[in-house]
Amino acid sequence: MPPSKPARPHPIGKVLIANRGEIALRIHRACQEMGIRTVAVHSTADAAAMHVRLADESVCIGPPPARDSYLNTAALISAAAITGADAIHPGYGFLSENAGFAEMVEAHGLAFIGPSPAHIRMMGDKIAAKDAMRRLGVPLVPGSPGALASFEEARGVAGDVGYPVLIKAAAGGGGRGMKVARSEDELEEAFRVARTEAKAAFGDDAVYLEKYLDRPRHIELQVLADAHGDVVHFGERDCSLQRRHQKLVEEAGSPALKAAERDALGARVVRALRELGYRNAGTLEFLWQDGQFAFIEMNTRLQVEHPVTEMLCGIDLVKEQVRVAAGERLGYGQEDIRFSGHAIECRITAEDPETFAPSPGRVSTYHAPGGLGVRVDSALYSGYAVPPHYDSLVAKLVVHGATRAEAIARLRRSLAEMVVDGISTTLPLHRAIVEDPEFRAGDYTIHWLERFVARRL
Ligand code: ADP
Repeated sequence: MPPSKPARPHPIGKVLIANRGEIALRIHRACQEMGIRTVAVHSTADAAAMHVRLADESVCIGPPPARDSYLNTAALISAAAITGADAIHPGYGFLSENAGFAEMVEAHGLAFIGPSPAHIRMMGDKIAAKDAMRRLGVPLVPGSPGALASFEEARGVAGDVGYPVLIKAAAGGGGRGMKVARSEDELEEAFRVARTEAKAAFGDDAVYLEKYLDRPRHIELQVLADAHGDVVHFGERDCSLQRRHQKLVEEAGSPALKAAERDALGARVVRALRELGYRNAGTLEFLWQDGQFAFIEMNTRLQVEHPVTEMLCGIDLVKEQVRVAAGERLGYGQEDIRFSGHAIECRITAEDPETFAPSPGRVSTYHAPGGLGVRVDSALYSGYAVPPHYDSLVAKLVVHGATRAEAIARLRRSLAEMVVDGISTTLPLHRAIVEDPEFRAGDYTIHWLERFVARRL
């Protein structure tokens, strides 16, 4: 891809990283290579964390609970002010999809490394997001046109689209507030429980209804837009390997999708986002079944699984986010983007590999695999104590190969080399997945992993 060097209307010389763990390190690394200084923030539980050690400066922003530290907007803005940061990168999770925070950042004269607050708000409301995509000509999962006003309306829509159906929270995330109803008998309960869960988890009981697809793949498209109206996509990721709607293994490209199908979807999505005036990185998530794509939601941030796209396209998405936030032009077009080989990521969490019970604690030995085509994004080190307060993701093992078969061989030997002693991790589960003939054949849907896990018990 040709490097571009247009003028920087809003130069970024120092970035505050409003996150922790591997993603804080990931952002630090990109900034460092760009000659940009970094400010780490941390809770008292994270004083010895690797992102704090590596950043140029660090500020303690509060006690261990996330609401008092990583979600403490006033402390974050103050930390940016005292350190003289020009921009804030929110990473994923925490405040990354909080439109109010993005507004606050901009109101303080800082650049928010992400989309506009209006687009974050629009896509954070899944009903508004589907509405926008419908208008822009993106295909959707059939369902209710908006929030369900009553159980009677739910029954009417379910009758039209046909059972099974899924009740989903408008403000949902992380798979919460989703309930399947396989028949009209189950609908009333699903409607009530989804509403209650949505209210408890998100403070908003708005729910909508979708047809529940029985054997789709989860295929998402990575997009990037500058502030001058140029939009490109970096192809798809297949994130069908999920447990409880949480992704465990991701691939780029999808073992099931043909290049022509990707190109057709990509062209449609790029057109839609150009019309929307979208800026920075984003991901559109689709379910794919019987050759049809159906949009489910858009994430207005960097995704956990972004490295598989980086390995496939030879691009640094975080650097691109920073450049675009500084007002630079992309400087390349869709035709410059090449998809080369195949990449696979395993999310390794500090959890029991069979019961998935959290397993925080001290890591006695940590050894990362290496060699050609292997990348490990992790904030672990020997002697580090994984705190119990946060997400259990401790490492992402990402491999790239000329073919999917080579990537799988590389993944298998990397998983064998990797050592995380002292705590339980999901490494044994990943080692089992990579041996499975169906996984190796790329023959799976979003329901495959749940059954695989159940078979192992
Ligand atoms: P969240 O924001 O909570 O992660 P999503 O809308 O992204 O929710 O859905 C998460 C996962 O739930 C999807 O990746 C898919 O596995 C499953 N899912 C969502 N909608 C449907 C549907 N209509 N039919 C079948 N599975 C679905």
